[in-house]
Amino acid sequence: MSEQSADNPGICYLVGAGPGDPGLLTLRAKECLEMADVVVYDYLCNAEILNHAPQSAERIYAGKKAADHAIPQHKLNDLLVDLSSQGKTVVRLKGGDPFVFGRGGEEAQELQDAGVPFEIVPGISSSVAGPAYAGIPVTHRDHCSQLTIFTGHEDPEKDETVIDYGKIGMAAGTKVMLMGVGQLQNVVSKMLEGGTDPDTPVALVRWATTGSQQTLVGKLQDITDRVQRAGFKAPAVAVFGNVVELRSELNWFERRPLFGRKIIVTRTRSQAGVLSARLRNLGASVDELPTIRIDPPEDLKSFGRLVQDSHKYAWIIFTSPNGVDAFFDLFFKLYEDARSIGGARIAAIGPGTAAKVKARNLAVDLLPDEYVAEGLLKKLLDDESVENEMFLLVRPDQARDVIAKGLTEAGAIVDEAIAYRTVGEMGDPTGAAGRFESEGADVITFTSSSTVEHFLDMGLPIPENLLIASIGPVTSSALHSAGLEIDIEAKESNIPGLVDSIADYFAKLS
Ligand code: SAH
Repeated sequence: MSEQSADNPGICYLVGAGPGDPGLLTLRAKECLEMADVVVYDYLCNAEILNHAPQSAERIYAGKKAADHAIPQHKLNDLLVDLSSQGKTVVRLKGGDPFVFGRGGEEAQELQDAGVPFEIVPGISSSVAGPAYAGIPVTHRDHCSQLTIFTGHEDPEKDETVIDYGKIGMAAGTKVMLMGVGQLQNVVSKMLEGGTDPDTPVALVRWATTGSQQTLVGKLQDITDRVQRAGFKAPAVAVFGNVVELRSELNWFERRPLFGRKIIVTRTRSQAGVLSARLRNLGASVDELPTIRIDPPEDLKSFGRLVQDSHKYAWIIFTSPNGVDAFFDLFFKLYEDARSIGGARIAAIGPGTAAKVKARNLAVDLLPDEYVAEGLLKKLLDDESVENEMFLLVRPDQARDVIAKGLTEAGAIVDEAIAYRTVGEMGDPTGAAGRFESEGADVITFTSSSTVEHFLDMGLPIPENLLIASIGPVTSSALHSAGLEIDIEAKESNIPGLVDSIADYFAKLS
């Protein structure tokens, strides 16, 4: 983050956020967000992209649905100048590309006039990405080699229209219209009057590149009717031209197995990413609704002492990826050398936990066949001699007693290192809880019993047709105790297993 002083004049980055898919953000945009003191963002910016900004960064919503100008443009310009002049690093995040119908040019001029340093970070424009995600290449050697991008919504302050839609319709090649759903009828009739072939293929792509993407295809002569009948609304890009026909061959995005399915991820904000990314890769529309947060243990000193003494144990047992992180974060504060762990052998409850251990360049000596506490205990008792051996069990503050009890009964000496606490996540910073309440979802995923408990604590209504997906038997039993039916249970109790089972469920439906 920037130093805020008179020597540091601040800077404003006008950054393109891309069309919606969080993966279509540029590396430079991410870098700018990571440096931001303030982010001023638009309606069309995916909320998830804001997560790249530091938690401490101020977030200002600038609005911009056609009818909802949260901050009028002139005030917005002043705001950008003011914030930057205070020495702040300001990111003005705009949907798509800032200079493609984004008023980025005007904002840059204001900054220039005020003597505020600024930089432009181009973004992937919906004018190209929208068609691409609908399987429509905007140019193609066999079809066209000219591309026209135009707006259907001129500056409302202008009295006369300067755009000659009749001529645009007659232009060679592909035509792409932004901000045009409300004006479609007018634009189409001007094109027809101007002599454009009524059979020209047209496609509208709504919420392009997101899991809510919808595409409507027709001909110039019937597209307005189709839009009305379907109740098709903004925001959408419209494509006019023969390239639209390629969609029947190239429609890759909407064909993915979880396309159009809305799935809720309830893990902690920091852990949600892996599950969300896998679901999104299959085409799901994912909303992260974190129900829990990982906090340090209440007795950090005791944990520290046990970590310090970890080399004295024959075995260190990890029961969760969080435990591994908490343990090694502290371990490497105390020791500089991985060998300080001595001869301790390492057991992990499942592949996710094992992967975390391996990420610290340490090998896992024991992994159970069944990835639950009972499985781990069984494997230790079956394969190892535990009597009089010392075990360090790294665990959360609240956990079932299976491993410590079983090992102690078998004559082992077990010390329990409470590595972290799972607490309910308060607040709804990304608005996900609100969206869930108003829009519902197809599937909600639970990846631990604590996500179940804390989700229930949030008191959100559970829609009747919502499918409940559980990572495995322990989480399922927490759901059962709460009186909830499980529709999908992971065959293998880990994240890839959960994702596979969700995909299988929908594959069977279709
Ligand atoms: N600078 C933006 C365009 C801003 S104008 C860009 O380069 O993409 C706003 C218009 O962009 C909307 O009315 C709509 O036509 C289009 N748009 C932006 N994001 C979109 C999306 N995800 N899906 C469909 N249309 C989108």
